[in-house]
Amino acid sequence: MSKVVKFGGSSLASAEQFEKVGSIIRAEAERRFVVPSAPGKRFGNDTKVTDMLYGCYALAEADKDFAKELKAIKARYEEIIKGLKLKLSLDDEFVTIEKNFKEKAGKDYAASRGEYLNGIIMANYLGFEFIDSATVIFFNEDGTFNAEKTHQVLSKRLEGLENAVVPGFYGAYDNGKVKTFSRGGSDITGSIVAKAIHADVYENWTDVSGCLVTDPRIVKNPQKIEIITYRELRELAYMGASVLHEDAIFPVRQEGIPINIRNTNDPGNSGTWIVGSTGQKSKYVITGIAGKKGFCSINIEKDMMNSEVGFGRKVLQAFEESNISFEHLPSGIDTMTVFVHQDEFMDKEQKVVSTIQRLAKPDTIDIESDLALIAVVGRGMKSTRGTAARIFSALAHAHINIKMIDQGSSEMNIIIGVANDDFENAIKAIYDIFVETCL
Ligand code: ASP
Repeated sequence: MSKVVKFGGSSLASAEQFEKVGSIIRAEAERRFVVPSAPGKRFGNDTKVTDMLYGCYALAEADKDFAKELKAIKARYEEIIKGLKLKLSLDDEFVTIEKNFKEKAGKDYAASRGEYLNGIIMANYLGFEFIDSATVIFFNEDGTFNAEKTHQVLSKRLEGLENAVVPGFYGAYDNGKVKTFSRGGSDITGSIVAKAIHADVYENWTDVSGCLVTDPRIVKNPQKIEIITYRELRELAYMGASVLHEDAIFPVRQEGIPINIRNTNDPGNSGTWIVGSTGQKSKYVITGIAGKKGFCSINIEKDMMNSEVGFGRKVLQAFEESNISFEHLPSGIDTMTVFVHQDEFMDKEQKVVSTIQRLAKPDTIDIESDLALIAVVGRGMKSTRGTAARIFSALAHAHINIKMIDQGSSEMNIIIGVANDDFENAIKAIYDIFVETCL
């Protein structure tokens, strides 16, 4: 059995956090491959090393003095090395970094040093081999991830190794120039390494005990999700729930490797399992609730719309011509509604309306703004009657007017539109009816 363990920035922000990570890794021999992030925040208004590096490099790029900023970054690492009582010096590394900054090695190179240096410390601390990700993770010339070459080189490099540390967040182009993923990208590296070694589990260690049923800023101490499918997670993530970098799902999903989200500060908690499919029902029929504010609905009416072939295409063409993507598209016999992001739409409102008029010749167009969309997601809905009814009655009791309801064809989610002002209360009401009443 082998596991890949990825630790986020807050899990590696100080020597104290490193020690927690060390005992987690040593607790199970299966935890063989380690993917560290750069040191994150130690306290509320602290700065992540990645951000310090971006700031420092911006000075270098503008030919300004960056000695003080680089020294502060070095101090972050030295604090960790000293706290762990390691016999390790990063002096030579920092001489190289300074030289490369002066030679303008690039923003990505600069940011990647956060993970690179933390990887060196981690490898030294654990006695594991260090593998520079620039030699095993590759990008295509257009900046996209080169999955094929990476898989080939990385699996070969890791073959036969008992343990290794592979820093997160970066790789390189074929010519060796360093390139990073987007922010939070160490999650992707962990997933890629898990795929390369055909890991049994990809453990993603962070500072929360897994995914929560809903946003803790809206519902106090929401319950934890025990098990969620990749598809459910994607639906929730799309609506704003964030646990994992979106692109981290794909490599492990292809291999059917489950992801286990865990908390470095509470290792006894089993966290959340993200899996391909499961026969296990979620405790509350629904798996999660997420939502976003700031939508607009464009309601289009035309008598006999139902028999007019091509009407929908013409309406959508008007949005396409203004380069606006739509979110939802509920329709009736003679009506069609298009939900879009308000901030994308507002500037182009009149242009879209006139294009709809010109192309589709509707009877009326009516626009409503300041709407919120809420997704109630759950694989259990398919086989349970009354889910929509429960949502309706919860919202009716809370005196919330439902503007729209749309059930995805997968029967795994129900999307509800409400006024922005009702957003928080609607989420609370839905949470209460499904979760609180079951506790
Ligand atoms: N250190 C990088 C960031 O702050 C990548 C990561 O932590 O995943 O975005």
